[in-house]
Amino acid sequence: MSDPGPIICDMAHPDHRTGVAFAHDVLAQRVVFGSGAASRLLAEEIERVGGTRVLLVASPSEADLAARLTAHLGDRVSVVATFDGVRPHVPVAVAEAARAVARSSGADVVVPVGGGSTTGTAKAVALTEHLPVVAVPTTYAGSEATPVWGLTEDGRKTTGVDPVVLPRTIVYDPELTLTLPVALSVASGLNALAHCVDSLWAPRADPLNAAIATEGIRALAAGLVAVVDDPADLDARDRCLYGAYLSASAFASAGSGLHHKICHVLGGAHDLPHADTHAVVLPHVLAFNAPAAPEAERRVADALGADDALAGLVALTRRLGAPHDLHSLGLEEHDIAADARTVAEAAPPSNPRPVTAADAERILRAAWAGLDPTSDPTPDPTPDPTPHKEERR
Ligand code: NAD
Repeated sequence: MSDPGPIICDMAHPDHRTGVAFAHDVLAQRVVFGSGAASRLLAEEIERVGGTRVLLVASPSEADLAARLTAHLGDRVSVVATFDGVRPHVPVAVAEAARAVARSSGADVVVPVGGGSTTGTAKAVALTEHLPVVAVPTTYAGSEATPVWGLTEDGRKTTGVDPVVLPRTIVYDPELTLTLPVALSVASGLNALAHCVDSLWAPRADPLNAAIATEGIRALAAGLVAVVDDPADLDARDRCLYGAYLSASAFASAGSGLHHKICHVLGGAHDLPHADTHAVVLPHVLAFNAPAAPEAERRVADALGADDALAGLVALTRRLGAPHDLHSLGLEEHDIAADARTVAEAAPPSNPRPVTAADAERILRAAWAGLDPTSDPTPDPTPDPTPHKEERR
């Protein structure tokens, strides 16, 4: 079945009288949500995309969850191969090994059951083998709702956008996230929250993304606090998964903002834990951008029920016991200056304020040391990059 491609919703018509003008791609994807949905509906959803021969992708720690689902596939759909060599950030060698399994098994559909690394491995298969993906996410990373693929080689992460990797169907089942330890739930949920916040100033930020992202922040903040209080609270897990989907759809549409560029540089170069890195970096990016992005600041504050976005985010991360420094995650201090230069080169022109290498270094140093983002003195939000006449003399 060929991919139907994006639906363009273009409000930039000259006769449009509201003054709102934007173009927004809505991704063609089926989203199935429900407690117990994965074991009840997976076979049906696989058949719906034309699949019967499944390449199951699940890491060893996700194998039990996957086995629970595949036990219910019935007679018409069967697992013809399993790939469990999942690694974070999808090394090219892992992608090639998974593709070889897909080819030799004659699989006609890829079913990842697991976190973003597992979904990413399935996407790598889809990229070259053009097999449909039916994703069953078990974390809040959100990769399943984007057409973004990522591969890592020689310490550099390459990403791209291709509709062929967008899972045809997502089956969200909060029961599958009950085993996700609290620390992983928090880091993964803050990764999702970062998708929401960053999409407010990313290159294709628009009012639809902003509305989706704001609802995502609300759902994630409430859900994560409740998960920390009671990890077995299925309603809380529901809310987090719902927020994760919203966050990823806002991110998919808006693109990568400064926050994601920073995490991308750090993840690719140093193999830092992905979700934890997001959790640490986000408050520092908000501290840097918020003074120059009042509307985004308001939205985040309102969604968090706080007077001030940054104070609200910092209070939330403390309440959740989130990691707060890159040093403990394995970043070496001597790498910061070079990383900062790469970040400054990669910073999107859409960022609410320019990002020099010195700015990036300041953000990275604060995040490395775990400084309090609310008390870290922020440089002038509207620096003039042109030297004044007196300075030139
Ligand atoms: P992950 O997939 O590496 O999973 C973290 C750990 O949790 C793994 O050990 C995994 O086996 C385990 N796990 C997963 N689900 C579990 C469950 N329900 N119970 C117990 N353990 C469970 O980490 P992640 O944060 O989910 O994903 C990070 C990756 O996703 C990164 O490589 C990132 O680049 C990618 N990502 C991609 C996109 C995209 O749009 N392409 C978006 C977000 C994240």
